[in-house]
Amino acid sequence: MSADAPITQDVLTLPRKLPEGGKTNLVGLTRDQMRQALIAMGTPEKQAKMRVNQVWQWIYQWGRRDFAEMTNLAKAYRAQLAEHFTIEIPEMVSRQVSTDGTRKYLVRIAGGHEVEVVYIPEEDRGTLCVSSQVGCTLTCSFCHTGTQKLVRNLTAGEIVGQIMMARDDLDEWPTPGAPKDETRRLSNIVLMGMGEPLYNFDNVRDAMKIAMDPEGISLSRRRITLSTSGVVPEIARTADEIGCLLAISFHATTDETRDKLVPINKRWNIEELLTALAAYPKASNSERITFEYVMLDGVNDSDADAHRLIEHIRRHKIPAKINLIPFNEWPGAPYKRSSNNRIRAFANIIYQAGYASPIRTPRGEDIMAACGQLKSATERARKSRKQIEAEAGLPS
Ligand code: SAH
Ligand code: SF4
Repeated sequence: MSADAPITQDVLTLPRKLPEGGKTNLVGLTRDQMRQALIAMGTPEKQAKMRVNQVWQWIYQWGRRDFAEMTNLAKAYRAQLAEHFTIEIPEMVSRQVSTDGTRKYLVRIAGGHEVEVVYIPEEDRGTLCVSSQVGCTLTCSFCHTGTQKLVRNLTAGEIVGQIMMARDDLDEWPTPGAPKDETRRLSNIVLMGMGEPLYNFDNVRDAMKIAMDPEGISLSRRRITLSTSGVVPEIARTADEIGCLLAISFHATTDETRDKLVPINKRWNIEELLTALAAYPKASNSERITFEYVMLDGVNDSDADAHRLIEHIRRHKIPAKINLIPFNEWPGAPYKRSSNNRIRAFANIIYQAGYASPIRTPRGEDIMAACGQLKSATERARKSRKQIEAEAGLPS
């Protein structure tokens, strides 16, 4: 890839469609909530389940946003639906395409806030990195999103809406009657965009349930990975209520260092986190927990760290793989990426100990779309450097 290859960017300048007064958006409602909404509109109770099935399929299987197209419903019923409801997803404000094919979307949600969504094409699959919050309450000192205050949680509709928007852009809605195409451009979801998904649990769960529903987008739970910085009390619920794969932003092997890098460690330390992971009901050799480990030069990348990391995982008998992430720099970041030799040596120690230790290739760096680089440039609410340093216990 040449460094000066062109980057394409389309900026969509369409004005934001105002939500039509008083109407409920159907996108993001669970099946049960949709049923209640249809009954409240006057749908007879005994028909409600069938109507939900029909509307659900139009929205999530065929990607339709207009009630008039729902041709298996009576005309009068379609008109009634249009009077009470909308089918709305977040608006794409801009799209940047990296030299490596990665796409970064900026999407606008109600209130004028913006979040980023990243699509990463690979040879045999395509992964969408979805945001769960605008900003983040946590202040991991190596993370760009962590410098932005939490503005608000995304709704379930705004979370599943990111997937729908990407399917629009990738032109991936099937045509009714056409043969089923098993190769999907968008085949995997990672909750690794902006925000801490376990601090917005209910909305993330509802959105993922919708994405997994077999009568709709129908992504397998094994193709969805939720990444958390370590909100220990919510970890078990992730298995019970969502059932997706789990990734942990581990990043350090002593509490002293983890307190600085991932300050939530002061609340739930390494031992408490490992205990919760050991109990994660879905973890087995075929569904291992991913330990994410960002490689920061001279901070957490020594041989001793690699040995301690293995020791922690072994002691708790956690089926694990370790994903090493070369640090992605951002303007003003207080760290440097470890050298390639250091990363390889670290990976080798882990591999020799019998654990998979893939090194994540940074994607979309030229458009600041790589892990931990997301932050909406237009967002005004910023944490001060002093606040971040104080919270992370870093010297100012
Ligand atoms: N809040 C969640 C998910 C979003 S971050 C979490 O913390 O897990 C997704 C992953 O990117 C996390 O492992 C995070 O620690 C990592 N990350 C953040 N900033 C990074 C950076 N600048 N370079 C590399 N990885 C980073
Ligand atoms: Fe928030 Fe995750 Fe970034 Fe930490 S790494 S500040 S939890 S988004």
